[in-house]
Amino acid sequence: MPQSLKGKVALVTGGSRGIGAAIAKRLAADGASVAITYAKDANSASAVVKAIEGAGAKALAIQADAVDIEAVRSAVEKAVAALGKLDVLVNNAGTAIPKPFEETTLEEINRMININVRGVFVTTQAALKHINDNGRIIMIGSCVGERNLTPGLAAYSATKGAVKMFAQSLSREVGGRGITVNNVQPGPIDTDLNPAAGDWATPQKAVTALNRYGRVDEVAALVAFVAGPESAYITGANLTIDGGTNA
Ligand code: NDP
Repeated sequence: MPQSLKGKVALVTGGSRGIGAAIAKRLAADGASVAITYAKDANSASAVVKAIEGAGAKALAIQADAVDIEAVRSAVEKAVAALGKLDVLVNNAGTAIPKPFEETTLEEINRMININVRGVFVTTQAALKHINDNGRIIMIGSCVGERNLTPGLAAYSATKGAVKMFAQSLSREVGGRGITVNNVQPGPIDTDLNPAAGDWATPQKAVTALNRYGRVDEVAALVAFVAGPESAYITGANLTIDGGTNA
């Protein structure tokens, strides 16, 4: 397989499990050195690092809760110090707290805003100090950031709508350096956050055109393309990978 990211350095937030772990492994398989952040689960983070190192690439895990602004800023600095530069940022860390909006507490609202929106802003600002010309900034938004069919996701969907507009807007500020900013919008993907088995999964699967959940490696393949040299003219775009949920 040709290594389209050979010599590149990537930072993937929330890269210890789920979609982020698959992205980290795929970017490494494509030739990149990869730093991941995680909040709590050091064992899963170190398993991702070992898997990448076992495949012959460089990797590093940094504990940085996206809620903690200083930790986020310092994670970007640590990644650059350890791996020498930064070419690709993947803003993947995110969370959903599905419940009726009227029952959602202020604490839960703050948590979703602080991880999904403020964390993305602060990480991106810190990364922009280092990211090279022709670099890549990739958000992991959600198909519900554009159109939502599922009750219980009002606040979460609004955070992903914010991520969408952030990506579109930022693309106009950094395009002069050849840096692209895109928003990958997954539909239901089988992870700890959204397991394909169970009551919550049934209605989500039912509204896909393909009648199935997506796999983390399917999202990682799209992110790898957006991170790579063949996507240089794609920017400010929302790239939906949702099995037809929003069709
Ligand atoms: P998971 O909960 O399975 O994994 C989340 C990852 O992010 C873990 O590595 C976790 O590390 C890390 N993480 C969680 N909270 C924080 C935090 N506060 N700071 C830093 N890292 C954190 O989630 P998914 O893989 O399903 O989701 C990844 C992204 O994809 C999110 O932005 C989500 O909104 C989005 N998405 C997911 C969809 C799905 O169906 N799964 C659909 C559409 C979008 P740790 O274990 O240490 O907490």
